[in-house]
Amino acid sequence: MIYIIDSGILINQSVIPDLHIEDEVVYTTQNVLNELKSSLSRSVLILFEEKYKITVINPSLINIDSVKKTISKIGENKLSMQDIELLALAVELRNNDMVIIFTDDYAIMNIAHELEITVNNIKTTGGSQKRRYKFKCKSCGKYYNREQLDCEICGSQQFIRYKK
Ligand SMILES: [Zn+2]
Repeated sequence: MIYIIDSGILINQSVIPDLHIEDEVVYTTQNVLNELKSSLSRSVLILFEEKYKITVINPSLINIDSVKKTISKIGENKLSMQDIELLALAVELRNNDMVIIFTDDYAIMNIAHELEITVNNIKTTGGSQKRRYKFKCKSCGKYYNREQLDCEICGSQQFIRYKK
C-alpha cells in the first residue's frame, strides 16, 4: 500500500491526524513538503516527521501532463500546482502498488475519483466547515487556491484574499 499525503489535512486542522499507518512510508512532493514547512508550526512539523517516515518524490512531467488532461476534461479549476503534482505522484506510484491519497480537498477528490485513485478523507470535528479562500496576485492577477509566499509567475509577495 502506498500512502500519499496532502498538506491541507495538516494545515487546515492543525493536528496530526492519526492515519493508522505507523511504520509505513508516506509519500509527498517537494512542493507539498515546502508548503507544510512554511505553514505548520515547528513543533507540529517535528511531531509529524517523528510519527511518519516521509519520502519526497517529484512526479514525472508525463504524469503531470496526464493529470492536467483529466483536469481540463472535467473542467475542475480549483487545483493548485501542488495538488496537480500530488495527483501525478499517485498516478506514477500506482504502477507499483495500490495508492491512497489522504486529503480533505474536494477538488483533489474529484480528480482522484476520475483517475480511479482511492482517497481517504480524514474528518475531525469542525474540520468540515472551514471557510475557504482563494488568493489573487496583486501584481499579475494569477489566482491561487492556497496562500503563497510569493507568486510563481511574477514573484510578488502581495495577494488579495477572496472567499471561494
Ligand atoms: Zn504575480
